[in-house]
Amino acid sequence: MVVDLAPEPAVADLAERTARFVRDVVLPVEERHRDPVPSEAVRRELQDAARKAGVFAPHVSTGYGGHGLDMRGRAAVFEEAGYALLGPLALNIAAPDEGNMHLLEAVASGPQKERYLRPLAAGEIRSCFAMTEPAPGAGSDPSALATRAERVDGGWRINGRKWFTTGGDGAAVTICMARTSGNPGDAGGATMFLVDADNPGMKTVRHIETLDQSLFGGHVELLFEDCEVPDDAVLGQVDAGFRNAQVRLGPARMTHCMRWLGIARHANDIAIRRANERELFGSRLGELGMVQQMIADNEIDIAASRGLILRACWELDQGRSAAQATSIGKTFCAEAVWRVVDRSLQICGALGVSGDVPLSRFLREVRPFRIYDGPSETHRWAIARRAIRQHAAAAR
Ligand SMILES: Cc1cc2nc3c(=O)[nH]c(=O)nc-3n(C[C@H](O)[C@H](O)[C@H](O)COP(=O)(O)OP(=O)(O)OC[C@H]3O[C@@H](n4cnc5c(N)ncnc54)[C@H](O)[C@@H]3O)c2cc1C
Repeated sequence: MVVDLAPEPAVADLAERTARFVRDVVLPVEERHRDPVPSEAVRRELQDAARKAGVFAPHVSTGYGGHGLDMRGRAAVFEEAGYALLGPLALNIAAPDEGNMHLLEAVASGPQKERYLRPLAAGEIRSCFAMTEPAPGAGSDPSALATRAERVDGGWRINGRKWFTTGGDGAAVTICMARTSGNPGDAGGATMFLVDADNPGMKTVRHIETLDQSLFGGHVELLFEDCEVPDDAVLGQVDAGFRNAQVRLGPARMTHCMRWLGIARHANDIAIRRANERELFGSRLGELGMVQQMIADNEIDIAASRGLILRACWELDQGRSAAQATSIGKTFCAEAVWRVVDRSLQICGALGVSGDVPLSRFLREVRPFRIYDGPSETHRWAIARRAIRQHAAAAR
């Protein structure tokens, strides 16, 4: 069997141009703005530059002004964008907007696409996705969903509390997942609602302080109190929220992996540069066996992550759910990226924890990835259950 992993020439060209754009434009801006969270003005400046460089919105279909890349194409380009923390924001492929655009393209009605997808794709507005709730609500187990939406005349009334809604500060629209049938603990039915920022029933309770700081718009806690939305605020179909969430979650897991793989490569490059320069014990650091082992393990983790991402993307491009492949890829990649950044920091010694190189920042930014998009333990549990079920079915 011939397996050709090379991207199409047009994708390879876009990836190449993205790498150049990140190196020449984004990294100098990142260097200049040391604040963990860039301002709205910096976001606009970077997105204008990305438009001029012809690398903006690679994931969105051409009808909405993008390059229309499939998942394998995204793998090549997003990894290059992810080499800088601000690269994804510059290309308008940062979480959660990128996943929300993917979801809107797949399930929104025509008018919803014009109202929300078009300005999102153009970088004119931002969005967020509110699923997770404080305990005992939905987290790793979505069936605990406690936020409810009840039918009212001409629409729905939402009540509940969400937290860890990334990008919530300044988002023009929130995609809120609410229970429309059954009770917490049952699978029941959930529905996604598009809630505009000026809806008086949706309030930002607080900004949650977290280890990571680079995701634009932070992580907020939201209160939905008699929040009324019209019927046309239903995204997809009533009670199909859990199913439609899968449209977003599988691909979004992989695009997170792609972006963080770029950071892993960046960390490894810093470590290798240091290993080539630093002299100790009569040799260069890179000539010492234990450092070579760490560099080799970094190379292995990066190559294996890329392979698992491509395999899952190939399945997604075939229109399959790729549930097992995205769980395997996400679990491995989230842990591998952490290992690579941690080893790279170790190789650099005290320099690694200083602000002179971005490694300690990378370490803070990648750690939560082992929790969001499904904690490693939830994925391992699901991977094992699927494998056992498959084995049992084959034995019948
Ligand atoms: C930085 C960040 C950004 C986020 N952004 C968003 C967002 O934009 N929108 C949104 O809706 N949510 C978001 N989340 C929330 C995220 O999706 C949840 O944190 C995640 O689903 C886990 O839920 P939980 O935090 O409630 O943990 P819990 O469900 O309480 O789980 C706690 C721990 O239990 C363990 N565990 C879980 N399942 C199993 C199992 N089957 N077997 C054994 N152990 C298990 C794991 O170690 C897990 O970490 C974000 C979280 C973070 C940290």
